[in-house]
This record gives sequence, C-alpha cells and structure tokens, in this order.
Amino acid sequence: MATGKIGVTTENIFPIIKKFLYSDHEIFLRELVSNAIDATQKLKTLSSFGEFKGELGEMNVKVSVDKEAGTLTVSDHGIGMDADDINKYINQIAFSGAEEFLAKYKDTANSIIGHFGLGFYSAFMVSKKVVIRSLSYKQDAKGVEWSCDGSPEYEMKDIDKAERGTDVILYIDDDNKDFLEQARIDTLLKKYCRFLPVPVISGKEQEWKDGKYVDTDKDKVVNSSEPLWTKKPTDLTDADYLKFYHELMPGNEDPMFWIHLNVDYPFTLTGILYFPKIRTNFDVQKNRIQLYCNQVYVTDQVEGVVPEFMTLMQGVIDSPDIPLNVSRSYLQADRQVKRISSYISKKVAEKLDKMFKEDRKSFEEKWDDIKVFIEYGMLTDEKFYDAAKNFFLLKDVNDTYYTLEEYRRLVEAEQTDKDNTVIYLYATDKTAQFTYIKAAENKGYNVIIMDGQLDPHVVGLLEQKLEKTRFVRVDSDIPERLIVKSDSNDAGLSPLQTDLMSTLIKSQIPEIEKSNFIVSFAALSETDAPATVTQNEFMRRMKEMAAMQPGANFYGDLPDSYEIVINTKQPVVKNIVSLATSSLENEIAPIRSEIETLNNEISESRKSAADNKETTPDLSDKENKVADLRKKEEDIIRKYAEGQPKVRQIIDLALLQNQLLKGESLNAFIKRSVELL
Ligand code: ADP
Repeated sequence: MATGKIGVTTENIFPIIKKFLYSDHEIFLRELVSNAIDATQKLKTLSSFGEFKGELGEMNVKVSVDKEAGTLTVSDHGIGMDADDINKYINQIAFSGAEEFLAKYKDTANSIIGHFGLGFYSAFMVSKKVVIRSLSYKQDAKGVEWSCDGSPEYEMKDIDKAERGTDVILYIDDDNKDFLEQARIDTLLKKYCRFLPVPVISGKEQEWKDGKYVDTDKDKVVNSSEPLWTKKPTDLTDADYLKFYHELMPGNEDPMFWIHLNVDYPFTLTGILYFPKIRTNFDVQKNRIQLYCNQVYVTDQVEGVVPEFMTLMQGVIDSPDIPLNVSRSYLQADRQVKRISSYISKKVAEKLDKMFKEDRKSFEEKWDDIKVFIEYGMLTDEKFYDAAKNFFLLKDVNDTYYTLEEYRRLVEAEQTDKDNTVIYLYATDKTAQFTYIKAAENKGYNVIIMDGQLDPHVVGLLEQKLEKTRFVRVDSDIPERLIVKSDSNDAGLSPLQTDLMSTLIKSQIPEIEKSNFIVSFAALSETDAPATVTQNEFMRRMKEMAAMQPGANFYGDLPDSYEIVINTKQPVVKNIVSLATSSLENEIAPIRSEIETLNNEISESRKSAADNKETTPDLSDKENKVADLRKKEEDIIRKYAEGQPKVRQIIDLALLQNQLLKGESLNAFIKRSVELL
C-alpha cells in the first residue's frame, strides 16, 4: 500500500470546492457519468483501431445506490486505469485546472460554477470518502484501489478485480443523503444523461403487481443513446421530429416547423430547433433550448450562444466547440461563440426563406404565428433583417399578404404625398377603426394591419430602413389629410368665423378624463361626416411605446391629444356656421376688434421696449382686460351654443365613432337624438 499527497498546492481545496460549488452539488453525477462514458468510448475507439484486441462485452455505465452502506457507485467497462494512470490523471493533474480557476474566479465563482467541469473531484462535494477501483484494459494490468477521505492525503493499493473498467464509489456525507434516493438519482440522470451515447443503467424496471409497483429483474436504461439530432435528416420523418419534440417539451402543442442543424466546419454543431406557436407573452417561453456537449446536458441558459430572438425557439443544440468553462460575459465576447450564433441565425433565415419560396400559401397561413419571432429577429439582429426583408409580410385589412417590395408597388401610385414620401396606412384594430378604414379605402388607399405586440417598434424600424416611407395610422387624421398631396387647404371661413366656430365647438366638447382636444376646419366633400375625431400619430406612438416599458414614464402620463376636424362643406355644418355668424356677429365683432386693438398695443409696447433695450413696462392691466373680454366672448358663444343641439350632436357623433362617448354624455346624446328626430 502506498500513501501520498495529492499534487495540489492549496492544502484546503476541498472546503473550497464544497463551499463554492454548494449551489450546484448535483453536477457531480454528470461529471462522473461523463468520465465513465468517455472511458467507454475510448475503449471502443481503441478496439476499432485494433489496438485493443479483447472482447468489448457489454458496454454500459451503471449508477447504483446502496442505502445501507451509504454509497453511490458509478461503474463502467471502459479503458480503466492502472496505478500509473491514477498517479498521472487523478493525483497530479486533476487539480491544475481547478486551482487556477478558483484563484481567478474566487469572487464570481457561483455564477459560473455550473459551466466548469471540476471533473472527478466534484465527487467530494457530496462525499466524505471516495474510492476508485479500477482495472486497466492493458495486458497484464493489475487492479488498483485508490481512496481519499477529503483531505489532500490518499491511499493506493493493488487489488484483485475481475472485470475491466472502473468503479467510483462515493460514501455520501450526511448533508447529502438525498443522493441515496433512487428517485432523486433518476431525476438527475434524466436531466443530465438523457441523451448520452452509451446506455446508462440505474435501478430496475418496475411492474404492477398485487396493487403496487415492484422492481423486476430487468435493468432500467435511463437514456436514449441515439437522440434524433445525431441522425441524418434524410432518414427522419415528420413523425420522428414531432415525437422527439413531445419528449423534450411534454404537454406542448405541436410546433409549426423545425430546423435540423448540422455543421462540421469551421466548428462542429448539431441540433434541432423547433418553432412553437407564439402569439402573446413570449418571454415566458424563454429557456427552452437545451445545450449539450457531446450529448451531455450542459445548460438551458443559452443567452449569448444563440441570437437573442431565438430564445423563443425550443429544442437542442449540441456542440463540443462552445467553451463551457468560462464566464458568461466571456462567452458572449468569444469569437467562436459569435460565429456559432450567427451561423444559427443564418440557418434560420435560410429555412424561412426556403419555406416562403417553396410554398408561399402555407407560409402565409403560418405568418400570424411566426410574425413575432421574425419581427424580434429583425429588430435585434441586423443580418437577420437583411435576410428577412425578402420574406417579411405585410397583411392588409382584407387578409392579403404582400412582401415589402410587392406592397411598395401596390401603393406607390396612389399613396405618395406632395413630398414624394410613400405613406403606408395602417390600422391596429379592424373593428374600432372600421369607419376610418372604409373612408381610406373609399379614397382608393390600402390599409395594413399592424396589431402585433412588436409592431410599434417594427413601424419605426421600417421607416428607417425603407426609403421615403412613412407609416400613418388610419385614424390619425381625416382621410383627406392622411396623405397630403397639395399644400392648399382653405376651409372657406373668414377669420371671425374661424374664431367664432372654434370657441363654439370647444365649448361643447364634453370633459373627458386625460384627453385634450383641438379644433380645426377643413372643406371636405358634402357627403363626408360633419365632424371627425383623429389622434395625433406622434403622441400616440410615444404613448404606445411608453406603455411597453415598465414603470412610470413621461409620455405615458401625458393626456391623449385629439383633433376634432369640422367639415365646412357639410350642409349641417354650413347651416350652423351661417346661423352662428348672423346671430352673433353683431355682438362678437366689437369685442373681437377691442381684443385685437389691445393685443396690438401689447405687442407694440413689447416690441419698442425690446428695440430700445428697456425692460418691458407693466402690461398686466391690458392683459387682464383681454382675458376678461375673451371670457365675455366665450360666455356669449357658449350660451348661444347651448341652444343649438345640433352642434353638440355633430361632436358627439364624432366622439361616438371613436368610443369616446361614454356614461352621462352618451345618455345625453341618446336623449338629444330622440328629441331631434
Ligand atoms: P477531465 O475528465 O476533465 O479530464 P477529471 O478530473 O474528470 O477531468 O478526470 C481526469 C482524468 O482521469 C480523465 O481525463 C481520465 O483520464 C481519468 N478518468 C477519470 N474517470 C475515469 C474512468 N471512469 N475511467 C478511466 N479513466 C478515468
């Protein structure tokens, strides 16, 4: 028997391992089973090269628990180790990496620990003593037993061992007794070892007997050693892919389609990515891609490895070329990882492009479900945008789909404004904006639907990317002004009439919480509505964007601003104008001219003071007078307006069209309507 000191300079490495790795104790099993698999694969390789001539026999890995003895054992029939190997691999170098790592990352260890394979020594996270019993594949090898109780001292002795391979026996410590439960081990094996390339056996198959489940004699294999992504796509059917999907994501709806990734150069990567149906709440779906390294499960935190927008997808990626023993920030800066990420992005874009080209009809049928995903990609990944602009679709209110190019051609002639900008009209709600959509269509315009959760951002993106293009919501102005084709816009009112009518209309707009109205006039056609309410495009967009951001915000707290446009050509309006003019002119005109005189005097004084670099004289007398006169004017007009139910009626009709007429105002409207009838 020999004793010795493990070749580590840090005397107390074990407490450090235990402490730092506390949160991720369970990965010891992944590490030990991976070692066993490696040893098995190595022997298979040696055998295939003729360097090992013996019988391979049954090549599996076994994980067994013995509750009474308090041990958990991982056994393999791989290449095994002799005393020299143990000296070399276990006693000397096993720690070189760990030591360096711990020194470097002491502070951040917890966040990256899961990605660092401490390998064999992670066994000490859960054990008070670890024993290795091994017999090397080499001819005339002697069996060897190594044991260590967690101090840097170990013992080693020759033993008789009949079977080639290695048993690693963990004497589980008192804090970690749960690893002696078969159910716990089953769960862990399912998580980490589900797709390992060598059969992993743990426990026995069970059967239903005398009213309960009992163990049979048959070993239970916990993994499928040839998972779907390792197979050739040409050998697989849709049913295979769907079956695999449901194994990965139990309880989910069928995915819409999938991509089988397979690349050897300049890095090795395989995998299958599924597109789930995503309509709303897409962030809860994240973390559904599992990352494997040679069929060993590593993590489902794939940010940085796959492009951000692809975290909406589900499936598996397997690559030995993703460096796992590094921190996340390093991972994101790593060139290889960047390449992998952009490769995946490119593949996904290619697949979508192919689907679009090969079967446009079915692509259109899927569009509403994949739109969020594609938009997310376009917004966050420049390269993806460049590819996606060829298959990104706009849907109009009649459910016809257009590519960006097709749409441009469709609307260019009719919807170019006086500044040569092509106006894309869109609606966010077909029902609520129905009348505006109809009005725009009557003018020969096309209206698209932009009702997705990312659409407000996409509108901004497309305005940036497409030349001379502006998106205008269909209810943001009266149809005549949605696309301004010439500068002239004379409503046909005199200055006095404009002033009078503004005050008149304003006095009759009901109080609506958190809303502002301005009044304007336009000479539309006689058959157009007498009044229309529109919402300012810029403010509305700002508020919509603000609503997506959490917390209070400037734009979100501002009131909604509306414009009420009065059609001066409409017969009822014409009547109101001429009646108001003739009834009020005599009373209002003198007040108006007095206001005008005062205002002129005020601005004269200001101007001359400014010209002579003097301080402005006190004008508050005059200013107060103007305010009083205005108030007087307003009162006269309001009083008059109250006797003119039709004024209120045309306003209410316009509000009604925008779902802005509610409660008491709505009640009054109905009553008034009956009276007017
Ligand atoms: P790593 O696996 O990252 O090299 P480990 O500490 O897990 O680090 O293992 C160190 C070495 O010990 C392995 O590279 C291998 O040579 C040897 N080893 C560990 N477990 C086994 C085993 N079950 N059979 C044969 N050799 C093993």
